[in-house]
Amino acid sequence: MSTRRILIVEDEQPIREVVAFGLKRAGFSVSEAGNGVQAQASVANERPDLILMDWMLPDISGLELTRRLKRDELTREIPVIMLTARAEELDKVTGLESGADDYLTKPFSPRELKARIDAVLRRSSPLDETQSLQVKGLQLDTAGHRVLAEGVEIHLGPTEYNMLSFFMTHPNRVYSRSQLLDRVWGANVYVEERTVDVHIRRLRKALGSHGLDGYIQTVRSAGYRFCPPGE
Ligand code: CA
Repeated sequence: MSTRRILIVEDEQPIREVVAFGLKRAGFSVSEAGNGVQAQASVANERPDLILMDWMLPDISGLELTRRLKRDELTREIPVIMLTARAEELDKVTGLESGADDYLTKPFSPRELKARIDAVLRRSSPLDETQSLQVKGLQLDTAGHRVLAEGVEIHLGPTEYNMLSFFMTHPNRVYSRSQLLDRVWGANVYVEERTVDVHIRRLRKALGSHGLDGYIQTVRSAGYRFCPPGE
């Protein structure tokens, strides 16, 4: 089972620590940020599966930060749960259309938080643990972290697995090497663009053992496209 990474953006350290403690106990991997700048760096470097965002931060409001994340193509799919201090704030926040996926008023119980997180992850993530991704001849079982080609398990390295998972959730679109680096490796990871070619080659080779290497097309001077037949 893959561990979900939650980023807690909260300037009040005691609250942050209590929340982090509860989430770790619930089996999540946790990162913490005490302000908006740290939050943005953490989002770029670690690409969390979900963000808990305090509304009132010292440098930028959680509301504005959420808007920015939701405007950016690289981060808009990361679900955000906004934390507010009072119910009146909640009314305001919900009326402001920040793009947050859910809202929670402090104080909340660890159980309530866990329930909200689970619900948001289930709703928003294409890689929910109960799901598997499937296209013709190819199945990616996200719960078991396994890939089946024509019903037979194939073994992929972690980068090839992440790449295939990205392709299967974003089919029929051309991605440049630099876009693939951002989406598969994460922004701010300094890897040469030709590294992408190396991993594409490995992925094709693995798929090729079942005649599926044609699913990944090279688009000249543009990049790569995942194009399963019949789509
Ligand atoms: Ca605060």
